Amino acid sequence: MTGFVYLTVRAMAGIKNIGILTSGGDAPGMNAAIRAVTRSAIYNKFGVKGIMRGYKGLVFNEIVDFKSQSVSNIIQLGGTILKTARCKEFTTPEGRKQAYDNMVAAGIDALVVIGGDGSLTGASIFAEEYNVPIVGLPGTIDNDLGGTDSTIGYDTALNTIMDAVDKLRDTASSHERLFFVEVMGHTAGYLALNSALATGSEAAIIPEMETEVDQLAELINHGFRKSKNSAIVIVAENPKTGGATALAERVKKEFPQYDARVTILGHIQRGGSPTAYDRILASRMGEAAIEAIMEGQRNVMIGVQNGKTVYVPFTKAVKHNKGIDRSDLDLVKILSI
Ligand code: ATP
Repeated sequence: MTGFVYLTVRAMAGIKNIGILTSGGDAPGMNAAIRAVTRSAIYNKFGVKGIMRGYKGLVFNEIVDFKSQSVSNIIQLGGTILKTARCKEFTTPEGRKQAYDNMVAAGIDALVVIGGDGSLTGASIFAEEYNVPIVGLPGTIDNDLGGTDSTIGYDTALNTIMDAVDKLRDTASSHERLFFVEVMGHTAGYLALNSALATGSEAAIIPEMETEVDQLAELINHGFRKSKNSAIVIVAENPKTGGATALAERVKKEFPQYDARVTILGHIQRGGSPTAYDRILASRMGEAAIEAIMEGQRNVMIGVQNGKTVYVPFTKAVKHNKGIDRSDLDLVKILSI
């Protein structure tokens, strides 16, 4: 699209200032996304407002002017310079009214929301209620959003897990133990499955298979009872079943011959400098968000499919129907014989 057409579209849409916020769980690469959104917006002559602490900043009016230099030297930083938060008030109509009034008072005409499924669900409701143009960026380590092959932060978290599990492998094999390593993922098994592949782990126990098979019994019967003297099993966190801790308890009771240990990696998975992949993904998506606003798009998340940037309606992105690649589960089994 030419600069002239962009200007025309923008003039028609009446958008002068774009607000940006990060919401929900933080993810490495959010800063790279903030930088890309800010610089692309300024490049295209928009004003930029940084909204602090996710939706809290809208509800409680913590909004600051952003310049190009506001995002200097942050591409390599984990976390988010805008801070993030969960905001109960935004889930109520009164809270969203307050948010809208503050947004209008600050001169914000469109929003870029960086966050996970909860944040994009909130964005969708807000956009419908007040007819606000909102574009979302998938910022979550869980990779649980539909319509995109990857989310910002997922690759970094995967690498952090890989690094930790490599270290655990040394001690697991020295002591001939069965290690359950619990990783994050919300209710999705992406991190668990792909970190199992990347670390050569013996199995991945994931929520997607929970109702189909007894994954622990399968592992013990077909996997662990072999010549191996140690095993690492990656377990996706699961508040319903109790995750790795509950599995280790079961082993103690049902298979006492095994020395089972648990490591819960926890919030370490959210931190650290983003990988090159996440920085590039965030940069591309950030620029695409501004292009989307200029094209008059609204209520869409920027996704990436087979290397191409796509627009994904919020309703599709938050549907929880992404599904794991079952052949990857088979691959973990095949490669751990
Ligand atoms: P992660 O996947 O990393 O946990 P998330 O974006 O899913 O991130 P949530 O805590 O689910 O994180 O949501 C973040 C915020 O989005 C909430 O604190 C709330 O302010 C807003 N939000 C979530 N769901 C809704 C909703 N149904 N209506 C309005 N706002 C919502």
